[in-house]
Amino acid sequence: MTALPADLYDAFSLLPEDERAVLVELRGMLERDVAPLLDEHWESGTFPDAIIEPLVSRRLMDPPTLAGREPSELYAGMRNLELARVDASVATFYNAQSGLFRTTILRGGSPEQAAAWDPLVRSFDLTGVFALTEPDHGSDIARGIATTCRRDRDAWVLDGRKRWIGGASHAQRLVVFARDDSGAVRAFLVDREATGVTLTKIQRKTSLRIMQNFDIELDGVRVADEWRLGGISSFADVADCLRAMRSDVAWIATGAAAGAYESALRYTLAREQFGQPIAGFQLVQERLARMLGLVTASVSLVVRLTQQQTRGVYRDEDSALAKMVTSANLRETVALAREVCGGNGITLDTGVARFHADAEAIYSYEGTHDINSLIVGRAVTGIGAFVRPSTR
Ligand code: FAD
Repeated sequence: MTALPADLYDAFSLLPEDERAVLVELRGMLERDVAPLLDEHWESGTFPDAIIEPLVSRRLMDPPTLAGREPSELYAGMRNLELARVDASVATFYNAQSGLFRTTILRGGSPEQAAAWDPLVRSFDLTGVFALTEPDHGSDIARGIATTCRRDRDAWVLDGRKRWIGGASHAQRLVVFARDDSGAVRAFLVDREATGVTLTKIQRKTSLRIMQNFDIELDGVRVADEWRLGGISSFADVADCLRAMRSDVAWIATGAAAGAYESALRYTLAREQFGQPIAGFQLVQERLARMLGLVTASVSLVVRLTQQQTRGVYRDEDSALAKMVTSANLRETVALAREVCGGNGITLDTGVARFHADAEAIYSYEGTHDINSLIVGRAVTGIGAFVRPSTR
């Protein structure tokens, strides 16, 4: 069972054999059944529903071949890498369930809710997405949440707007974060079809075109108290979820960079100029080496981060640093990949243009480069610099 061409130092071999077997089988399915659908859907800005069954039926969150054993966290990271290596939208779509939704249930739910719902989440019998960002509050969402919730007998009433919510049209429940009268932040599993919920697809995107994102309006939406996540009563609780989610995105950034590098390598070996493959030119090899260096650095970083988290070390700055560095490495890798493909690099045919465009969304979601830098900066200096000090 072999490592990917982009996995120079063979991080894959850190997984036990049964987990590697699951990923090798997944890799084959993605290349055979998913990859051929991507360009057409990227161009039309639509999601290929045909890929849902093959992804869901494999039970990638609790593979049956592990005989009841919980898969390792490293396996979960490498699963994201394998998905993103084929397509960043596919990885983002899967991660909406396996990362954002599942993490929020496990960390934000009461112990009873987590125990009851997690098996359903793993099997996709309960599907959900994460609705935190708002039209007027992205980076400053911690202080800015304007969506409100108020208690009304045995239920809650939600009013407000959310923006960018990925995969909302395919999910049964939207995890909506809202502020109550006392200022406390709470989270609810809102039925997507509830009265007062309106979803509007965000059009004219130039990045992650396959992944569907939505504006959501909540107008007097009633949610029973049993659908409120019992473990979330402040933004610190939300931050606890984000800490884990950012690591998932760092793996996605790494996988997308691996996909771009491998596409560029294939193209430069096949394309001839001056009577020889362009991969034989020194300057092209320099770029291939730089791309491989960036991918290898990202893989090494996310592997070590995940090893730390497996030991129970979860710190804001660790996952923020990984998200920040792997996304920047991705951006640099896709630019080099596009460059060595020349003019053809801006068409979908070479396999790099999709990654090139998709890198922009990854660079900005789950905390922009700046916000993740500021999280790291606060940790190393002890000084929060999110808001410019007043000069007056
Ligand atoms: P803004 O906050 O307006 O930032 C604009 C610029 O200002 C950025 O460069 C930013 O770094 C900079 N900036 C802001 N504040 C500071 C500061 N203090 N110091 C320095 N620079 C600063 N959200 C969800 O809740 N659920 C989802 O499923 C989801 N999916 C997404 C999918 C995509 C494709 C995208 C693009 C976004 C998604 N988001 C989602 C939202 C995402 O998390 C936000 O876009 C992100 O947090 C940035 O917010 P913003 O876009 O409003 O940018």
